[in-house]
Amino acid sequence: MTLIGMPQIRERRTPTRSGRTYHLRTFGCQMNVHDSEGIAGLLEADGMVPAPDADTADLVVFNTCCIRENADDKLYGSLGMLKRIKDARPGMLIAVGGCLAQKDREIVQDRAPWVDVVFGTHNLDRVVSLLDYAEEWGPITEILEESDGVAVIPAKREVAHRGWVTIMIGCNNSCTFCVVPSVRGAEISRRPGDIVREVRDLAADGVVEVTLLGQNVNSYGRDLDLGGRKPLFADLLRRVGAVEGIERIRYTSPHPKDFRQDVALAMAETPAVCEQLHMPLQSGSDRILAAMHRGYNAERFLAKIELAREHIPGLAMSTDVIVGFPSETEDDFQATLDVMTAARFDSAFTFIYSPRPGTAAAEMVEEFIDPGVAQDRYRRLAELQTGISLEVNQAAVGTTVVVLVDGPSKTDPAMLSGRTRTNKLVHFAGTNSAGSFVEVRIDRASPHFFVGTPV
Ligand code: SF4
Repeated sequence: MTLIGMPQIRERRTPTRSGRTYHLRTFGCQMNVHDSEGIAGLLEADGMVPAPDADTADLVVFNTCCIRENADDKLYGSLGMLKRIKDARPGMLIAVGGCLAQKDREIVQDRAPWVDVVFGTHNLDRVVSLLDYAEEWGPITEILEESDGVAVIPAKREVAHRGWVTIMIGCNNSCTFCVVPSVRGAEISRRPGDIVREVRDLAADGVVEVTLLGQNVNSYGRDLDLGGRKPLFADLLRRVGAVEGIERIRYTSPHPKDFRQDVALAMAETPAVCEQLHMPLQSGSDRILAAMHRGYNAERFLAKIELAREHIPGLAMSTDVIVGFPSETEDDFQATLDVMTAARFDSAFTFIYSPRPGTAAAEMVEEFIDPGVAQDRYRRLAELQTGISLEVNQAAVGTTVVVLVDGPSKTDPAMLSGRTRTNKLVHFAGTNSAGSFVEVRIDRASPHFFVGTPV
């Protein structure tokens, strides 16, 4: 068990659900996956053990996300299927938490009254108490408007040698397509000493790689006051980089407008910080970027990635792109292709725009793009990026990289899989244990992975 967050524990209790089973399903982003580790940690601290599937579990928890497409459909479809199981086993508990629950509040219990607990993004540390309440009194919805800090939660890590550390929650930006500010609230940063302490605890627990998490990590610390001084993200990288035992540090996500030279220098000068950077572009059109409220244009974006590459040799970069944002013309889309061609990202997460209720862009109904046109642009963008990714990866053939082993490959259990410092997936034959480092010569490259031989 590891403590996440500020150094006050909101709840201590004797386990009351020993031997009972839970099934936890996570939708969405890395932040949510990390939140789920916290929820699992709380349930296991209460004596529960994982169930192989929802059909046999005593408790099913959905940690929802409304950032991705069709979140409602997926959730209500799953809840519909669970109703039949719950009808047959009335003692089973169902809980729904996360962004969608935060946004839709009572709607979840209106549409699925068989749900026992609905909780939001600001009170996931209360999940066990809410389950107690539901068992005694019946269904409950508890949604808080804002956080009073980053909760301390005993996390259950999915991978023993990797840990995620939340450094801040919330976002002060107002991108017109995004629900995060309304469901996660304003930025709250943790104090650097607490973060470093958590990273030290992780290192003592065998973790060799940490990922620092926040919606906009580059604005870390702006809300803090440490005796008249505000801690900077660059300083935090250096402090975390000094923790003994931590070999690799990653972070996600930075906002391009807030990425500055001090961070690039800290990355370059801190050996443990990996040569990897995710820099979300979203669009290459200045007009669309303005409509998205992104706070930069294509030229400034390209200058930021040049700044990063200039300071950090061997840097691998990835990005996010939305195609078919309301009013996007063919010229706007061409501008995106142009920036992608110029930037030559190692990889990209590409999405077709879909409206999120409650966001400004969702109101631009008159300017929504024909789905067929959006689909075609998505295909053309994916084609372009796949070609670039292949070229970039092929340049690594014949080189030797250090791979942190994750374990047997998911597609071929006879092979091992692991990640380079640049976060590229490598498959190779070997018997090394998970969490060990292996030098591997790259024999073959595809757009999304390498195949190699240990040297
Ligand atoms: S920076 Fe924009 S896209 Fe990212 S979380 Fe904040 S509002 Fe959402």
